[in-house]
Amino acid sequence: MIPAPCRTGTRQLQKKKLPHAFGGNIPVNMKTGKEKACKMRAFSLAGPHGRVRVMKCDIIIIGGGIAGISAAARLSAHASVVLLEAEETLGHHASGRSAAMFEREYGNRVVRALNHASEEYLTQENGGVLSPRGILMVARADQLEHFSQEMAEMSLEPLGVAEACEMVPILRREKVAAAAGNTWARDLDADRLLQDFAKRARAAGAVFHTRAPAGPIARAGGLWQVKTPQEDFVAPVIVNAAGAWVDEIACMAGVSPLGFVPLRRSIAQIPAPAGHDVRDWPMLHGACESWYAKPEAGKLLVSPSEEDPAEPHDAWADDMVLAEGLARYEEMVTAPVTRVEASWAGLRTFAPDRSPVIGFDGEAPGFFWLAGQGGYGFQTSPAASSLAADLILSRPPELETRVVAALSPERFAP
Ligand SMILES: Cc1cc2nc3c(=O)[nH]c(=O)nc-3n(C[C@H](O)[C@H](O)[C@H](O)COP(=O)(O)OP(=O)(O)OC[C@H]3O[C@@H](n4cnc5c(N)ncnc54)[C@H](O)[C@@H]3O)c2cc1C
Repeated sequence: MIPAPCRTGTRQLQKKKLPHAFGGNIPVNMKTGKEKACKMRAFSLAGPHGRVRVMKCDIIIIGGGIAGISAAARLSAHASVVLLEAEETLGHHASGRSAAMFEREYGNRVVRALNHASEEYLTQENGGVLSPRGILMVARADQLEHFSQEMAEMSLEPLGVAEACEMVPILRREKVAAAAGNTWARDLDADRLLQDFAKRARAAGAVFHTRAPAGPIARAGGLWQVKTPQEDFVAPVIVNAAGAWVDEIACMAGVSPLGFVPLRRSIAQIPAPAGHDVRDWPMLHGACESWYAKPEAGKLLVSPSEEDPAEPHDAWADDMVLAEGLARYEEMVTAPVTRVEASWAGLRTFAPDRSPVIGFDGEAPGFFWLAGQGGYGFQTSPAASSLAADLILSRPPELETRVVAALSPERFAP
C-alpha cells in the first residue's frame, strides 16, 4: 500500500496545487508564495515478509554519478531529496572514468549550448574547477578533408607543423600534414566538482544512500514507490539519472525506454614519453577522433577514442582495442609506448540524436529524465542540473526555449 502524500501539518503552510509536474505535492507557504519542502518522514508498513521501513520525501534521485549528484545539489534547498546509488561509492561508473576536460565547442549544437551555459559556474563556483590545458589536433595527409571539418566544428585555429612540434617535441614531423589548436580548452577537476555538488546537497539536507540499488518501481496514489534491499522510498517525483542504466530504470517503472546506447571508451595510462616533462603540453587529438592523449599528473592518458556499443555493465578496457589505439598514437610520435601502467573504460551513454534528455516524461507523471550525457556529463553538469531543477520546481528555465525543447523527452514522442 502506498501512503498518502506528504503533509507538513503546520498552520501557515496550506497545501495548494502547484501547476507543475511536481504533482502539487509540495505545499506552498501562503505568506511568501514559495514552495516549502516536506520533511523526510519514515514509517513502517506490513509486507509479505514482515514490516518494511518506508521513507517518504519529495524527490527520489536514482544514480550517484555527476548527473544525480548535481541535481541533488540544485534541488535539496527547495525539497526533501533522497539519492539512491547501487554501488558502494559515488561516481563509481562513467563519472569515475572521464578524461576530465572542458571543451566548449565539443559536441552537437545542443551540447555546446549546455557547455556555454556551464562555463561561468565551472570557472567561478567554489574557486572554479578549470585550469589551463589547450588542445592540439594533428592530421595525417589522408585525413585532411575530415580535419578541416573538425577544425571548423571545434573552432580550432590553424597552426604550422613546426609550431606544433615545438609544443609537443615527440610529434613525428614527417607524419604531421596539418595541425590546429586552441588555448581555451581546459582541464576540469572532475572529482572536486562531484564532491562540491555532493557537499552542497548534503548541507541542504539531501540524504545519499549507497549500496542501495533501486529495485522494483511502481506508481500508485500519485506517488512513486522505489524498493531497495534495505528500505522502500516514496515520493511524487523520481529523477532517472542512472547513466548507462536509464532505459532499464524506465522499464522497471513501466515507462517506455527512449533507446539510449551506452558506448564504451577506454583509456591507458603510460609513463611520460622519453622522460619528457608533459605537464604543460596541450591535450593531443588525432584527426577523425582516432585517438587522444592527455597529460595527467606527469603521465599521459591515451585513449583509442572508440565508441563500441555495450550493454550497461561495469566496463573494462578491451586489450585489442587499446593496443590498436596505442598504435595509432605511436604512428604520430617518436617515443614508443614501453609500458601501460593502468587501463580502464567507461560507458558514454547517448540518446539516438546524441543530445542529453532532460525533462518530465510525457506519459508517466512525475518521472523525470536526466540522461544521455554522453561524453560531456561533467562539462554540461552545471547547466543540465540547473535546468532539471527549473523544470521540477516549475521555474522559468534560464536556458533558451529552443534548447529546452531540444533536450525534452517530448522530442521522441510518436
Ligand atoms: C573515457 C571517458 C572520458 C570522458 N571524458 C569526459 C570529459 O573529458 N569531460 C566530460 O564532461 N565528460 C567526459 N566523459 C563523460 C562523463 O564521464 C559522463 O557523461 C558522466 O560521467 C555521466 O554521468 P552520469 O551520472 O549520467 O552516469 P554515471 O556516472 O554512470 O552514474 C550513474 C549511476 O547510476 C547508478 N545506478 C544504475 N542503476 C541503478 C539502480 N538501479 N539503483 C541505484 N543506482 C543505480 C550507477 O551505479 C551509477 O553510479 C567521459 C567518459 C568516459 C567514459
